[in-house]
Amino acid sequence: MKNPDIVIIGGGLGGLTAGALLAKRGKKVLLIEQHSVPGGCATTFRRRGFLVEAGLHEMDGLDSGDPKRRIFEELGVFEHLEFIRVPELYRVVTSKTDLVVPDNTEKAIEMFIGAFPDEEKGIRAIFSTIHAIRDEVDRLPSNRTLLMLQLPFFPLLYPKLVFMGNRTLGEFVDSIIVNEELKIALLANYPYYHDDPDTLSLVYYSMAQSSYYRGGGHFIKGGSQRLSDYLAGFIQAHEGEVVLDTRVTRILTEHGRAVGVACRKRNGIEEEQVFRAETIVANAAVPLVAEMLPDAERMLLNRRISGLKPGISWLSVYIGFKRDISHLNNSAYSTFIMSEDASTLRRGIPSASSGFDRRGFVFVDYSRIDSGLGAEGKSFGVICTVDRIDEWNGLTEDAYREKKERVAKTLIDRLERTIPGISQEIEYVEVGTARTIQRFTGNPGGIATGYAQIKGQSGPKRLENRSPVPGLFFASAWANPGGGFTGAILSGWFCANEILS
Ligand SMILES: Cc1cc2nc3c(=O)[nH]c(=O)nc-3n(C[C@H](O)[C@H](O)[C@H](O)COP(=O)(O)OP(=O)(O)OC[C@H]3O[C@@H](n4cnc5c(N)ncnc54)[C@H](O)[C@@H]3O)c2cc1C
Repeated sequence: MKNPDIVIIGGGLGGLTAGALLAKRGKKVLLIEQHSVPGGCATTFRRRGFLVEAGLHEMDGLDSGDPKRRIFEELGVFEHLEFIRVPELYRVVTSKTDLVVPDNTEKAIEMFIGAFPDEEKGIRAIFSTIHAIRDEVDRLPSNRTLLMLQLPFFPLLYPKLVFMGNRTLGEFVDSIIVNEELKIALLANYPYYHDDPDTLSLVYYSMAQSSYYRGGGHFIKGGSQRLSDYLAGFIQAHEGEVVLDTRVTRILTEHGRAVGVACRKRNGIEEEQVFRAETIVANAAVPLVAEMLPDAERMLLNRRISGLKPGISWLSVYIGFKRDISHLNNSAYSTFIMSEDASTLRRGIPSASSGFDRRGFVFVDYSRIDSGLGAEGKSFGVICTVDRIDEWNGLTEDAYREKKERVAKTLIDRLERTIPGISQEIEYVEVGTARTIQRFTGNPGGIATGYAQIKGQSGPKRLENRSPVPGLFFASAWANPGGGFTGAILSGWFCANEILS
């Protein structure tokens, strides 16, 4: 494309959403993606006849107050894709408890109080607090000047944010709930956000969890690639261009301002190509962006990000089943299985530093919904747990493959104890690690959710969409407001609005 207005580096959900919105508003968008398909983590692939979902278990929200609704409506997403609501928030299994948590505030409160009647006050407090925090964040003005004008009235306008904004989830839950089994059951899905309750930001947790309790969880029928393909097609239909198999190697600057990019086809044979544009949007991970900048601008960006801590990665055991597995004793779409010696929240929840024989995990059974995955007459599921790339670095290819096989066996054996007979139904198994995510998306450490959602890095303190380098913006899980499908999509939206304003 000649003379684009905007060049976007990376075709993950953040880049695709920003690109689609900017193209709709009349900007000439050129999106450059290194992989052979758009989507980044929002992708599917085919194996042995199975359609495998690489990432998405469920996406929060889509209720009337969810800002994603407006974005999807503006981009015509609802007319082209089907979102399947999953039947419950999750099932949680420990050695003492087996509970199904509804995806609805009133029903969830009722269920938790029924199971833990002595903790009614704490249960009500956690639900009212997460919703109040979410409402206050939603009310924050995106306009900086307005925000500054509101500063003197902050405690009155945003009491929860002021008094709870600096707390961690663990600290807050300990202050209102005593029973450790209840803590585990209430917080079972928090490893989707981070692996340590004692650093996880209460604000970030509240944003996401409140959205799940208000709108439930959804899967995209046919897999997340459908959303990525739709957004890429939208950019093309609005006079934009999506170039695949091409890696941006450098961001060009003049007088301190980003003015273009240099890129190469991934096979490296073709010459470097240069595109100039008035605005550059980086969807690629922010630490990679720093490496693409010339020295002076790199230093400027590094000064902003050097203290930020990255988040966690995940390991997925993709499983193709010979047939529908609904005859097995599994009632839920997603089941969180805690380690058998989980006597307290801190012992029970997955931590990337515990062994795979006791690291908690989630099993997602896509056959519980009309997912459009799997293969004719067969079904598909995934075991997922937190992961660290240093588990996998430095191994030879053989040692890497053997370790993946061992880890898959350990986790499947543990799943078998909760869902007897499931291992007999398996036809195909493949493991994706933190290393796999890094290889396909470039995310350092295989971290798909960017900088950790810990206190001091979340909510209003998140890395801004406008970078310190004029002309360069961020639209990804690494920037405001954070990771996950919702985080990346909103990041694209915030980024597009910053550019247009
Ligand atoms: C296993 C797994 C399960 C998940 N499950 C869920 C879930 O159930 N619910 C949920 O909400 N979220 C889930 N997530 C998280 C969610 O998928 C991610 O947070 C989100 O998709 C990240 O989007 P992004 O736009 O920030 O970037 P990414 O998806 O990381 O995409 C970045 C893109 O930039 C490209 N790129 C990088 N460098 C360059 C370069 N130099 N030149 C050109 N292109 C480049 C990459 O190839 C990639 O396509 C999951 C993630 C994983 C990995």
